[in-house]
Amino acid sequence: MIYIFLGAPGTGKGTISYLLDKNKNYKHISTGNIFRELIKKNTKLAKEVRGILKKGELIDDQLTFKVLLEDIEKYNLKKDNIILDGYPRNINQAEILFEYFSRYHKDLKILVINFELRNKIIIERLTNRLICPLCGKSYHRLFLDLKPKKEWYCDNDKTKLIQREDDKIKSIKKRLVIYDEQTKPLIEYFSDKKILINLDANDSPTKIYEKVLKICQI
Ligand code: AMP
Repeated sequence: MIYIFLGAPGTGKGTISYLLDKNKNYKHISTGNIFRELIKKNTKLAKEVRGILKKGELIDDQLTFKVLLEDIEKYNLKKDNIILDGYPRNINQAEILFEYFSRYHKDLKILVINFELRNKIIIERLTNRLICPLCGKSYHRLFLDLKPKKEWYCDNDKTKLIQREDDKIKSIKKRLVIYDEQTKPLIEYFSDKKILINLDANDSPTKIYEKVLKICQI
């Protein structure tokens, strides 16, 4: 089964994916995480991607699909529960994905969960988000259930937490504009295909997790 987690940045897609991966053996594929790993390298491509991420813009569709494919093909799409977190982000990417599924993986079940949240809350969430630069785990300064055990240090590997470059206010605003212009039309696109469920994401991570478990019928 393929679950597509759709929604603006900061709506909790990554956190819920992380929990489903950790607790229920779902396979979390985040194109954002893949790009954050890639930019740690010292290559020309890494430098280019770093610049785009920092500005909060989108990476080109072909490259994004290429990195997604490298990850997705590690799994058994018939048996595994796969979460696509942050892909697709525009209609063209959705069409590339559906064309690939219809060509190589016919009859896959696909469900889109649309995380809904108002911009004011998104901005508050993103400006208070912290991330482990080593393992990628996200934390939050406001949510009790997402605070690290030791302030500013990752629970997994004790690395000092940082703020993501693109969680600075200028990049956040840019990412929200891009979401409105490019990603939001996917709501209607998936709705027309009758595979979309809306989720009110204005709740604590624990509550949202429970709601998603119900949707996924676990
Ligand atoms: P995220 O962690 O999902 O917020 O993604 C962080 C950044 O990675 C985005 O702002 C984009 O620059 C890039 N990125 C992630 N997913 C995609 C995608 N599907 N298409 C293009 N760029 C992406």
